Amino acid sequence: MFDKHRAIVNSIEGLNENEKEFLYSALNIHGHVCGGMPMGYVAGLAALKALGAERERNMDKMVIINTGNGHAAGCFADGVQFATGCTFGKGVMKKEPKGKWTFLLIDKKAGKAVKVTLKNEVLRKAFSAPFITEYRSKGVNPTDIPSEIAEPGFKRPFSLKLEDVVEIEGPFDFKIEKKKPCFNLVECSVCGHVMAENYAKMEDGKPVCVDCINYHVDR
Ligand SMILES: [Zn+2]
Ligand SMILES: [Zn+2]
Repeated sequence: MFDKHRAIVNSIEGLNENEKEFLYSALNIHGHVCGGMPMGYVAGLAALKALGAERERNMDKMVIINTGNGHAAGCFADGVQFATGCTFGKGVMKKEPKGKWTFLLIDKKAGKAVKVTLKNEVLRKAFSAPFITEYRSKGVNPTDIPSEIAEPGFKRPFSLKLEDVVEIEGPFDFKIEKKKPCFNLVECSVCGHVMAENYAKMEDGKPVCVDCINYHVDR
């Protein structure tokens, strides 16, 4: 599987070795060859460039993305996540679902943001390709779609000029509160599970987790 990913990435023209390695990692994490993830990947890199910023390794930047649930090309969000380094687990990738391929990339320290919108034509082209019309819309999983159908869509964003893939607004001022994370653990007095202290509810002076608090009250 990974060999196949390597071969696909290597066949893309115009990427240097580092860029190929990076895209290869993104494809491995995403898991399948599609058109959505690479569109997000290119859009994420474009957003960083417009913001004049490096890929986020800590928690100083944030993405608020507007793809939704239960529609095609949601994979876009994975590409944005990987390219920008604003990941779900670090708490710096938030979804505000609108069924749109738009996102904000926010530099919390600088108080600046850019808004990225995927161009209509790029999206329409992806949605009219056989990958969607002949396979995905008929319930075929991306991994079961023949390579000759899936690969052109994967490679396409890399063959286009950046301005033909995305529209970027900003940078503009965008203030976001930077909260200090909680570093303490407490144990739920009902189930005994350990939780982050900032999620503990107090009941009769004892910490209770969110799972147990209703149960406790209902009794
Ligand atoms: Zn995908
Ligand atoms: Zn509990």
